[in-house]
Amino acid sequence: MANMMTDATAPITQDVLTIPRKLPLDGLTNIVGLTRDALRAALIAAGTPERAANMRVGQVWQWVYHWGVRDFALMTNLAKEYRAFLAAHFTIALPQVVTRQVSADGTRKYLVRIAGGHEVEVVYIPEQDRGTLCISSQVGCTLTCSFCHTGTQKLVRNLTAAEIVGQIMLARDDLGEWPTPGAPKDETRLLSNVVLMGMGEPLYNFDNVRDAMQIAMDPEGLTLSRRRITLSTSGVVPEIARTATEIGCNLAVSFHATTDAVRDRLVPINKRWNIATLLDALRAYPGLSNSERITFEYVMLRGVNDSDADARRLVKLIAGIPAKINLIPFNEWPGAPYERSDWTRIRAFADIIYKAGYASPIRTPRGEDIMAACGQLKSATERDRKSRATIAAEAGLS
Ligand code: SAH
Ligand code: SF4
Repeated sequence: MANMMTDATAPITQDVLTIPRKLPLDGLTNIVGLTRDALRAALIAAGTPERAANMRVGQVWQWVYHWGVRDFALMTNLAKEYRAFLAAHFTIALPQVVTRQVSADGTRKYLVRIAGGHEVEVVYIPEQDRGTLCISSQVGCTLTCSFCHTGTQKLVRNLTAAEIVGQIMLARDDLGEWPTPGAPKDETRLLSNVVLMGMGEPLYNFDNVRDAMQIAMDPEGLTLSRRRITLSTSGVVPEIARTATEIGCNLAVSFHATTDAVRDRLVPINKRWNIATLLDALRAYPGLSNSERITFEYVMLRGVNDSDADARRLVKLIAGIPAKINLIPFNEWPGAPYERSDWTRIRAFADIIYKAGYASPIRTPRGEDIMAACGQLKSATERDRKSRATIAAEAGLS
C-alpha cells in the first residue's frame, strides 16, 4: 500500500480541469432535457399564447419522447405555421454517437460526443429478463476512487439534462425501439432499466440528473418507472435525502470497505462523510423514497477488502437496512493498482452475506473485451493520453 494511488492522504478530489459548457451557436433552444414546466415556459417565451401552452407541451412532448420524432415537420397534429414557428426557435438535439462497439456477449458500448467535443461512454447490457442502459452523468469524475479508471481522468464537465436523457434516446434509436404508429403496443422493452453507473458522480450534478430522470419517468413518453432506475453514488451524504424526495429511484452505494481506514483509501470521499455518517443517511432512504432496498456495491479487491472478517463486519454494519449486496469482481484497466479477488474468495465472501439473510449476487463482468465493464470507462481522448494542453486546445479553451 505504499503506492501513491492508495495513500490515505490522497486528496478527495483531483486537480481537474473543469470544462465550461459551450452552448450551440445557432441560438435555438433544445427541447430535449426541458422538464414539462421548463418546456411550457420556453414555448411561451418564444410566443406561444399562454392559453394554448399546456396543450402544446403535451403534443410536443408526445412527439419527442413517445414517438422519437426529431423533425418538427413530422408533428402532424400541429398546424403548419406552428411547426414552422417551432423550427424557427427550437431544435431536438441529442449527443452524437461517434462509435458503437458490440461485445462477444452482446453488450453494446457507445462513445458519445457532446457539445465542446468531449466524450462520454454509454453501455447497453442485454439480459434474459431485462435490458439495462448504463448512463453517464459527467465527463470524467472529480473524485479519486483509487480502483476506478474514470477517477483518473483529469477533464471534468457536468452533463446537461439533455445530454443525460439523450443517452437513453440514442440507445433507443440504435435498438430500433421507438413505437410504430398503428402497430399493436409492444410491452416487452429492450431498454427496460437505467442505471446511473457510468462516468461521473451523479450527486455532484444533482439538478441535471433529477431533471433528466423526471423526463425519463414521466407517465407519457419514455415512461421508465422509478423502480427501474438506479442511481449509484460514492456517498455524497447531503444529497441522499433529496435523491429520495426529488427523484425517488432506487439507490446504490459504492460501499467497498468495512472500516474507515480502508474506505478512506478506496473511496476518498469517506474522509468527508465516513461510514457511520453514510449509514445514517442510508437508513432514512427507503422511508423517504418508498423504495424497497438499497444496493450496496462492493468491489472485490484481492487482499484489500475481501476477507471473511470484512464480510462479517459488512453484515453487522448494514443491520436493519433493507439491502442487497452486489459483489463486483474488480475490472482491471491499464496501470490499475489492484487485482481481482479469486473466485473461491468471492464465493466465500458471498456465502457469509447470503447466510446472514441478504441477497449477494456476484455481478458478471460484461463487455470486458470492449472495456465496457464497471469502472473501465474513460474518455477515449484521455485514453490516448493526449496532453491537457491538446485537449484544452481542441475544446477551444486555449
Ligand atoms: N460515481 C458513482 C457511479 C459510477 S461507478 C459511484 O461511484 O457510485 C459504478 C460502480 O462501479 C461503482 O460502485 C464503482 O465503485 C464501481 N467501480 C469503479 N471502478 C471499478 C472497477 N475497476 N471494477 C469494478 N467496479 C468498479
Ligand atoms: Fe467517480 Fe464513482 Fe469512479 Fe469514484 S467510483 S472515481 S465516484 S466514477
